[in-house]
Amino acid sequence: MNYWNPYLETLPGERFDQIELSYFRGMLSFAKENSALYREKLRGIEAEDIRSLDDVKKIPFTEKEEMRKYQEIEPFPYGGLLGSDIEKVTTFRQTSGTTGKPIYVPETYESWQWRIEAWCHILYMAGFRPRHRVFLPFGYNVYVAFWEAHFASEKVGCELVPGGALDTRGRIHKILEIRANGMMNTPTYGLHIAEEAKSMGIDPASLGIERMLCAGEPMPPATRKRLEELYQCHVFDHIGGTEPCAWAGMCEAKDGMHIIEPFFLVEILDRETLQKEVDEGEIGVAVVTPLGRRSFPLIRFNTKDLVIKGKNSCSCGRTSKKIKEVVGRTDDLRKVRGVLFSPKTVEEVIRKEFQEVEEFEIIVERRGLMDVITLRTEPNAQLPVSSIEQTKARLKESLKIATNLSFNVIMEPPGSLPRYTLKAKRFKDLREA
Ligand SMILES: [Zn+2]
Repeated sequence: MNYWNPYLETLPGERFDQIELSYFRGMLSFAKENSALYREKLRGIEAEDIRSLDDVKKIPFTEKEEMRKYQEIEPFPYGGLLGSDIEKVTTFRQTSGTTGKPIYVPETYESWQWRIEAWCHILYMAGFRPRHRVFLPFGYNVYVAFWEAHFASEKVGCELVPGGALDTRGRIHKILEIRANGMMNTPTYGLHIAEEAKSMGIDPASLGIERMLCAGEPMPPATRKRLEELYQCHVFDHIGGTEPCAWAGMCEAKDGMHIIEPFFLVEILDRETLQKEVDEGEIGVAVVTPLGRRSFPLIRFNTKDLVIKGKNSCSCGRTSKKIKEVVGRTDDLRKVRGVLFSPKTVEEVIRKEFQEVEEFEIIVERRGLMDVITLRTEPNAQLPVSSIEQTKARLKESLKIATNLSFNVIMEPPGSLPRYTLKAKRFKDLREA
């Protein structure tokens, strides 16, 4: 069987629209009745006023900042975001807080199961099956993504091996010891495990991983291909977040990602006006409404994720809408010397053309009236000292072509740059400090 839920995954597109509109109206009434945030925010708006998906666009977005504000009121620690009796909450998770105070996310048992079910779609689409023994090379702490991966793997029927409390070498030994054939990790950590294995004299392809699902960071196509080459396996991507849940994933056609319909209503809006839906092939901001999770109602959450809208058909036969690619975050798009710059472009160049570069970091600063952009890189052990200058010159040239900006390129000794296991923060804009 190719589908996790054959009925839902092959519904005609217009049925998704009808179902999502009806669920949206239900969530709106529920949120107004049960959460302090929406009681105030949606005053004067009734479910009956929402007769079409166009009407949905009249409702204000939910932004992270107001969520932080409403979290401060009673009941502690969820405040006005909570949509259920606090005694029914069974799962505590929180955001990483990289952009400010963390948001605490309550799930009742029912809401948590809803999240897991959505995640099962992502795993099954990526070809994870009961024959897979899946290694999760992390301690999951209070962050949601790998907990969802954990429980969804079990529900799909995989055998899940948690890999917390080990260092990278310990994890490599564990993969070999238990003959894991599946793995879920951030792209950065996938690359790091491969480098570490090589330094132990182990070819990453011999680890036996058949299938890898990546999470946590936007993954440029070149990084996905690089992981596929290193491990000689199939690598899949998905997109989501702590607040909106995981809302789209890659199927085995590896041509963009399917929105998990009708679990989510996803709008991809023009980034200037945030009003109009963009056309296929255009970049827009993803605005997501989870449609079945009641303990933490979220109406039109502005994810600030920039995605390219995809086509609505797929060789896998699923009928849900697709996104073509994740471009990055609106927060990461900056003007440098008047040029719009996305750090993901640099990653794409490095992973595609510079396999001798293991780790990197981008720093933008203002010197006098000038913006200066610096790429700090760390080569891997295979790069001879005599080739360093040549690699630097090639990097400068390729980056100039890709971004239209002149980079100051520095090569640091091995071990100088931070290593990331969860979210990589490779971009620092010091002009804001
Ligand atoms: Zn597909």
